[in-house]
Amino acid sequence: MVGPGTRSKGGKKVSNGTTLHTAEFLIQPGESNPLQADAGLLCDSAGIILAIGQAHELRSKSDVTVHHQILMPGVVNCHAHLTDAGIAKPVGGGEGLVRWVQGLLASRGTAQPEEIFQQQVRAVLRQMMERGTVAVGEVANNFRTIPAIAETGIRCRFMHELLGFPENRAHQVMLATLTGQQRAELPSTIFYTLAAHAPYSVSPPLMKLIQQKNAQQGTFTFQHLAEDPDERLLYQEAAGPWREFLERIGGWEPTWEAFGVPPIEFYDRMGLIDGNFVGVHLADATEREIALMASRGARAILSPASNLHITGKFPDVMAMVRHGLQFGFGTDGRGSNPSIDVFDEAAMVLERFPNLPAGILLKALTIHGAEILQFSDLGKLTVGQASSLLSVAVNGSPNDLRGVEQAVVMDAVGRQLQA
Ligand SMILES: [Zn+2]
Repeated sequence: MVGPGTRSKGGKKVSNGTTLHTAEFLIQPGESNPLQADAGLLCDSAGIILAIGQAHELRSKSDVTVHHQILMPGVVNCHAHLTDAGIAKPVGGGEGLVRWVQGLLASRGTAQPEEIFQQQVRAVLRQMMERGTVAVGEVANNFRTIPAIAETGIRCRFMHELLGFPENRAHQVMLATLTGQQRAELPSTIFYTLAAHAPYSVSPPLMKLIQQKNAQQGTFTFQHLAEDPDERLLYQEAAGPWREFLERIGGWEPTWEAFGVPPIEFYDRMGLIDGNFVGVHLADATEREIALMASRGARAILSPASNLHITGKFPDVMAMVRHGLQFGFGTDGRGSNPSIDVFDEAAMVLERFPNLPAGILLKALTIHGAEILQFSDLGKLTVGQASSLLSVAVNGSPNDLRGVEQAVVMDAVGRQLQA
C-alpha cells in the first residue's frame, strides 16, 4: 500500500521525506481519551502531521520510523521574567514579597554589558527548549529581552507591563506606551500584549485602559494577583508594607483611599475579571476568590516554586480543580526560582496534591498553557498542523493516564523535542 508521502517506483516503495513516530503511549491532552497506546504519528518533512493512529496501521506508509517511549506536545512556560536570566542564585526569600522585591531591584542595579545580557537570555531560553518548552510568556516593562527571544525562534507572548500607581498618570502612561510600541519591531514569533504587574503597581484607571486596549486587540490581560497577603492590606486599609514601599520610592498617591475590599473582589466589581483575564500566582487566594474567578471564566498561571521561595505560600490547586479554574504553569524569574523547567512546577503540585484528577497537570503543561498564551496551534497534536512533538523517556512502565502523568512529571530520564 502506498500511503501519504510515499511513491511507488518499479514496485519499490520510496520515501518522500515522511517520518513515522511510534510510541508506547501518545498523550493528546485535548482529547476525551487522552492516552493512546501503540500509537503512530506520521509527519511530512516540514513536520506537518499527516495522520495519527495505531502504529501498526501506519507502519507501511513511511520508510523512516522513530520509536519513543512516550510522545506528547511540547510544553508551555506561561510566565517568565527573562530580564533576570543572569541571576545565578535566587534573591533571598522567606521574608515576604516586599522584602524580596527590594532585594531583586538591588540586584538589577548592577549594570551589565548588553552582549552578556543577550547571551544570558538566549542561554536560558535554549535550556528551556532543550527540556521541551515550545512557547514562553515573557513579562517585562521594557523591550530589552526581545532580540534574544527573537534569535532563539521560540514562540513568545510578550507581556509588556505598564507601571503607574497614581491615578492621574494613567493616560500619560498609556500614551507613552502606545507611542513606544509603534517603534518596537517584533518578529512573527513574538506576540505583544499590554499587562499590569500587580495591584500595587497599577491604578484602577490604568488597569481599565490596559484591559480596553487588550480587548480591542483580542488579547488577554495578565496580572500578578494574590501573590502575598500584603496586597490585601493595601486595598482594604491603605496600609502595610506596600504602602510603605510606594512611599519610599515616590510612587504613593497622597489622595489614595482604601477600597475596603481585597484586589480580586475589587477588580470583579470593576468588571475586569472575565474570560479575558489571567491572574498569575493566586498563592494567597481564598477558595471563595478562586470560585469567583472560575465563575467568571478567568484563568490562572501558577509558579509554586517562586511562591515557596518568597512567601512560603502554596496555591490551593485542589480548590482550583474543584471550581474549574483553568491553569497553566510558569517558572517565574530566576530571582525567585533557579529552575527554568516548567515540569518542576508540575512536580511540586503533584507532590503536594497527589490526588488531583489524572491528566490535569499534563493539560496545564500543554493545552491549557497554550490557551492562556493564546497559541491555538500549540499544546496539542492536530492532523494538518505542524507538530511540536516531545519525546519523553521515563523510569518504569506506566500503563494508565495517572501512571504516565506521574512518570512524565516526576520520573523522566530524558526529554527531547523532535525537529
Ligand atoms: Zn512574575
